[in-house]
Amino acid sequence: MSAFVDLLILGSGFGGSLLATIARQQGYSVALVDRAAHPRFAIGESSTPLADQTLAELARQYDLPELLPLCQYGSWPRMSGGLTCGAKQGFSYFGHQRRQPFNTNDQLLVIARRTRELADTHWLRSDVDQFLFQLAQSREARTYEKADYILRQTPTGWQCSGTAGVGDFDLTAPFVVDATARAGEVMRVVKVEDETHSLHTCSHGIYAHFENLRPVAAVLQDLSVEQSRHPFACDDAAVHHVLDGGWMWQLRFDDDTVSVGLMTPQEPDRPQLQWEQTIDDHRFLSQQFADARIVRPAHELIVTGRVQHLQARAAGPTWAALPAAAGFIDPLHSTGIAHTLFAVRRLAALWQPSAGLSGLQRWQAMKGQTFIWQRYSDVLLDELRHIDLLVAGCYQSLPSFRLWSAWCMIYFAAVTTAESATGRKQLDGSDCFEPSFLRAADSPLRQMIFEARRWLDECVQAGSTVDACRLFERRLAAALRPWNECGLLDPDRRGMYDTTACPSVDE
Ligand SMILES: Cc1cc2nc3c(=O)[nH]c(=O)nc-3n(C[C@H](O)[C@H](O)[C@H](O)COP(=O)(O)OP(=O)(O)OC[C@H]3O[C@@H](n4cnc5c(N)ncnc54)[C@H](O)[C@@H]3O)c2cc1C
Repeated sequence: MSAFVDLLILGSGFGGSLLATIARQQGYSVALVDRAAHPRFAIGESSTPLADQTLAELARQYDLPELLPLCQYGSWPRMSGGLTCGAKQGFSYFGHQRRQPFNTNDQLLVIARRTRELADTHWLRSDVDQFLFQLAQSREARTYEKADYILRQTPTGWQCSGTAGVGDFDLTAPFVVDATARAGEVMRVVKVEDETHSLHTCSHGIYAHFENLRPVAAVLQDLSVEQSRHPFACDDAAVHHVLDGGWMWQLRFDDDTVSVGLMTPQEPDRPQLQWEQTIDDHRFLSQQFADARIVRPAHELIVTGRVQHLQARAAGPTWAALPAAAGFIDPLHSTGIAHTLFAVRRLAALWQPSAGLSGLQRWQAMKGQTFIWQRYSDVLLDELRHIDLLVAGCYQSLPSFRLWSAWCMIYFAAVTTAESATGRKQLDGSDCFEPSFLRAADSPLRQMIFEARRWLDECVQAGSTVDACRLFERRLAAALRPWNECGLLDPDRRGMYDTTACPSVDE
């Protein structure tokens, strides 16, 4: 079956499916092509206030009320079809040293939402991605799952032909979006150079979903660790265990399964053994994992190579990539979902139909405006480089939990000020590149981070001693002042931040 469509989207993860739905709302004909079929396991589950704010804006702007219940934990039960999620009221960090008892001072809790009702969520991605894919279908996007295809560039755009569950297909389109994440299908065809070598972060992942994982709060209780100072229930969060040689995330869903992943700077040569040893060597983790079993995706751990990648370009006159296809840094700071939604918002704003132009005419007019795509690409890649520095400093701080916590404060300063700016901004179409993601376009902030990196180097070279850490914290607290709206790095808080919640809509 042959068809011409205005827009071809490769990859039907949440990013590709949402973009397809919005483009249909804008009146474009859309084809959505995926190598796999829904429901399927996907990693990257923890949303943030920036993600939820952006999703809510998209829902209102493009008349997609079905999306609104996804934007906060309290409204999730209104989702039809019973999608699974978990409550995320903030970020919890616990520091551990091999074979040492847990030190109660090694805790950092940063609230993101004032109440559980308003909380962000962990998305069970197999559910959410399928829901968004079906939403695209309900808006009559043409969909092709289990597709085996060849993509070619033609003088007028793109041709994609192959077979799928529905039979043979042959699609032509003036514009294509690469939403295939790491596969980077379009970028392989246009031969974009790889720039991963220029990134500072280097990490590798081992992950799966577990059942019977004891909550952190239960283990703290066993250890008689006082939790009354916690600003929220510590498991209703993106839980981070900060270890000597890496860190572990734990994201708990309402069905009591938990997404767990171990990130390490060194590539594990025997991942299964490293996993077991990491748990055995940390008494706290051993207590959590005593009865735990893998339940998804297939009763065994998934092992990645280096997770970072970065491409030299993220768009051209007839194509654009979503962030995960253009580059990826690390699960730390949960940037992936929000950054993808920022890119979806930008692309939709750039495509906003003009009166009297057909889809094809609109693409042709935009093809002449190469600067738009150059800007999209420059902004997106610069944001990935910004995330790289925010993450790399945390790995560099290891094994010092104190230093890790201090470096995290740069992320929290950037994100809390970005949340209040994004909350105030309406989609007025004036400049879809504003605001930048996590204040990447804020030159003084970027400059400050470069400077802070130098102080961090000095501190690490001095052996991260108590005095060196204190000096680093003092320097950082002074430099961070212009972006510190909520008392970050205040020693009196002793790692418990209850003033960092995202303002609600009416604030
Ligand atoms: C280990 C890890 C942990 C993460 N944790 C978090 C987190 O906690 N919070 C967060 O916000 N982000 C996280 N992320 C990032 C997050 O996973 C991504 O930002 C997000 O999945 C991107 O969504 P997407 O729709 O662009 O791509 P994906 O969801 O990856 O979807 C890509 C789709 O493309 C399809 N596909 C692949 N190849 C082809 C091809 N050649 N042709 C057609 N289709 C193809 C796939 O089947 C899939 O459906 C994490 C990432 C990793 C690697």
